[in-house]
Amino acid sequence: MISICFVLGTRPEIIKLAPLIKLCKKKKIKSTIIHTGQHFDYNMEGRFFRDFSLKPNYFLKLNNSRSYNKNFIKKAVLKLIDYYKLINPDYIINQGDTNSVLASALAYKRIRNKIKSKLVHVEAGIRSFDKKMPEEINRIKADKISDILFAPTIIAKKNLVNEKLTKKKVYVVGNTISDTITQNFSKFKKKNNYKQFFFLTLHRPETVDNPKRLKTVIKTIINLTEELKTKIIFPIHPRTKKKIKNLKINNLEKLFIIKPCSYNESLGYQKKSKLVLTDSGGVQEEACILKTPCVTIRNNTERPETIKIKSNILTGYSAKLIKKAIYKMLKSKKSWENPYGKYVSAKIVKILIKEYKNEN
Ligand code: UDP
Repeated sequence: MISICFVLGTRPEIIKLAPLIKLCKKKKIKSTIIHTGQHFDYNMEGRFFRDFSLKPNYFLKLNNSRSYNKNFIKKAVLKLIDYYKLINPDYIINQGDTNSVLASALAYKRIRNKIKSKLVHVEAGIRSFDKKMPEEINRIKADKISDILFAPTIIAKKNLVNEKLTKKKVYVVGNTISDTITQNFSKFKKKNNYKQFFFLTLHRPETVDNPKRLKTVIKTIINLTEELKTKIIFPIHPRTKKKIKNLKINNLEKLFIIKPCSYNESLGYQKKSKLVLTDSGGVQEEACILKTPCVTIRNNTERPETIKIKSNILTGYSAKLIKKAIYKMLKSKKSWENPYGKYVSAKIVKILIKEYKNEN
């Protein structure tokens, strides 16, 4: 019987792998989940396992409940090597661009000749072309080491072709986030009384680790709440919360800052908001699928599909451009189609079963 090991460690990986893991379990594929513990705040990981009814089989607990381990990647590699030897699954599946993905790929690279497993990368080939972003380096390395690459779109596949990764098995399947949304759509939190609001998320190092930048972004958004008489709902990422404290921004209370919210709340807020403002990768995709115009406060994006179909716009970090983009997107006709496909997990499982039969 085919066996699969899923390695994950952060909020977006749990969210995007949930439909795939559930489908494997339904099909009685032997599934093992390893949680690296990269995210260690209950609101960023534990609650998502609970809400998606998933349970890790192995929990590496590499970060303690307060802080990120500086040697996280090194330690994760060593532990994962042991688990890969022990479990020796047919497929090891990674999703996205986190340090857990990188650690998993590096562990696999060290012992690929000693185990039967093939390494699979879900959401392969997406590129921001900004090598200063740790996520970009993680994606490139993970794609290089993996054997089977599931690209979400044709654009992502083209990036893999340009990097000459065509000898690997590359499939364009869409993004599993489409399945996650479909499966959770009916569970949106109904109650919220705000007539008009924007939904804001910020967490990327290039936004929040640069105090001047973060201050400009937050001040610009506060000014706009007054100008547009709009509420801003801002579930704050632990990293951002830490950084914002030191900035001493006037009128911060004008933002409706809440703890990181549940997945259903996140979908509910995104669906009902007039605009989504973000620097998150996954949120750009979700806003697009949910037909809410998105303003991405970054210089670049690895989700160019959303820019092409005009569901999303890039602003950079200047107050003037953020403001201009917000006014522009408020007039959006919302006439785009979802570029991320559907039944994506089913396509992935079908391909893996076929690959397995060919190999065995
Ligand atoms: N999200 C959530 N609660 C929140 C903020 C975001 O459930 O308070 C979800 C969001 O809907 C999306 C994912 O978290 O599915 C995005 O994660 P994040 O922005 O941390 O990572 P990225 O997508 O940038 O890798």
